[in-house]
Amino acid sequence: MSYGDDYKYIPTTSATSGIGLEVLPDLYCYNVKIVNISLIGNPDTKDFLLVDAGMPGSANEIITATEKRFGSSSRPKAIILTHGHFDHVGAILELVKHWNVPVFAHELELPYLTGIKSYPDPDPTVEGGLIAKISSLFPNEPINLGEQVQALPADGTIPFLPAFHWIHTPGHTPGHVSFFREADRSLIAGDAFVTVKQESLYSVLTQEQEISGPPRYLTPDWTAAWNSVRKLEQLNPAVAITGHGLPMEGELLKSNLQKLSNHFDQIAIPDYGKYVKPKDLH
Ligand SMILES: [Zn+2]
Ligand SMILES: [Zn+2]
Repeated sequence: MSYGDDYKYIPTTSATSGIGLEVLPDLYCYNVKIVNISLIGNPDTKDFLLVDAGMPGSANEIITATEKRFGSSSRPKAIILTHGHFDHVGAILELVKHWNVPVFAHELELPYLTGIKSYPDPDPTVEGGLIAKISSLFPNEPINLGEQVQALPADGTIPFLPAFHWIHTPGHTPGHVSFFREADRSLIAGDAFVTVKQESLYSVLTQEQEISGPPRYLTPDWTAAWNSVRKLEQLNPAVAITGHGLPMEGELLKSNLQKLSNHFDQIAIPDYGKYVKPKDLH
């Protein structure tokens, strides 16, 4: 197992870094610098999963947050990934070594997690803000998890997590997935949409809530991304944890997600950028 050749620590942070939120009794969201991880499972049962694996260099912080919630020496049954961008797999090798647990991701994401394929280069020329301009510094070479990563079952189920199922929400990446629990309409959306304007350094720092599409500089297929947002909006989620930004719920989530779904071309798709095609803009 190895990280990509350009793997490195990224010196960036936000107002909510290091803060954990109990969104529901069995749904915990923890912010690592600028990205969220989630722990799904009731702290009484010790039966839980980790969603995503944070920023480079954050393994100890993630282990500490996990043990704080589930007790010392606790370990998840598995790690499930919304996708394989560097800020969602940044600490995964250390975590897998420490816990010795399997990793699951969508079949179409596996080439980016087994050293076969790099994601398209981030687009520093895209419309919108400072983060995009520094995005060419972000690690982009694929990590290699070897046999430790497996495809999520094709039937939509999630190993060790029967109450949730995964939904294919491509666009931001080909094998991007979101996780949904019908019983209480809980959604873990990854980067299919986010609740902070990821392009704005100010918004990332303050974590001011504003629903927006997937991070622009790393999204190569806007038509698919729009369809994915429509799909998630139709689920009518009651609460959503997104890859970036604070969790959102209730009427605020409903109205914002509706707005994003209806006006994705104006809100999410940049006016210019190398991955924007004329057909995306209507
Ligand atoms: Zn991403
Ligand atoms: Zn992300």
